[in-house]
Amino acid sequence: MKTIGLIGGMSWESTAEYYRLINEDIKERMGGLHSAKCLLYSVDFGEIELCMRTGQWDKIGEELINAARVLENGGAGFILLCTNTMHKLYDQIQKEIEIQILHIADATSEKILQENIKKVGLLGTRETIEQDFYKSRIENKGIQVIVPGEKEKELVNQVIFEELCLGKIKDRSRENYIKIIESLISMGAEGIVLGCTEIPLLINKDDSSVPLFDTTYIHAMKAVEKAVNF
Ligand code: GLU
Repeated sequence: MKTIGLIGGMSWESTAEYYRLINEDIKERMGGLHSAKCLLYSVDFGEIELCMRTGQWDKIGEELINAARVLENGGAGFILLCTNTMHKLYDQIQKEIEIQILHIADATSEKILQENIKKVGLLGTRETIEQDFYKSRIENKGIQVIVPGEKEKELVNQVIFEELCLGKIKDRSRENYIKIIESLISMGAEGIVLGCTEIPLLINKDDSSVPLFDTTYIHAMKAVEKAVNF
């Protein structure tokens, strides 16, 4: 089994899910007392979020490159960046190390294509939804990506940072998210990408009439597949 390197803590609420999902799947596949070999480098999200808010992306890049190097030197076979948003820095980090960083949007696109879906709605942080680094990675696979309107984007972002990343799961926010999912479906979305690793803490498949693409789960499963089939 290969050692999975995890860059986590963004937030730790979702990193804990990665750890659980990876270990559950290893147990399922291998049985008995088997569990995942992994290394976790967990950052202080308070520092990272402050840098995001103040536009200090260079500083975040330095921290994440350092994390990737520590994992590589520690013996990780490959790396997961346990957040969609930080894939903004994917190329920058990847070029500094030899081992592969499994891109969360590539793993997700693969699943979308398997379901034969051509148009998805995307939920995530403002960075993920508005900028090109994430959407274009999916669009390049021939999948159309639509996003919520301005007010809805703000609400989705606010719930992520002010609730989900702090472990607060509120029915009111779930209802609001469901309304936004429904509006994306009415705009033609055949599937919804939960493009933030905390959203699956709030929303599950019963909350949508179309397939949901849970990026935390998809990414974690991709890692297990790679760890056991080398
Ligand atoms: N975990 C979130 C994501 O998947 C947001 C936190 C962050 O900004 O990294 O995008």
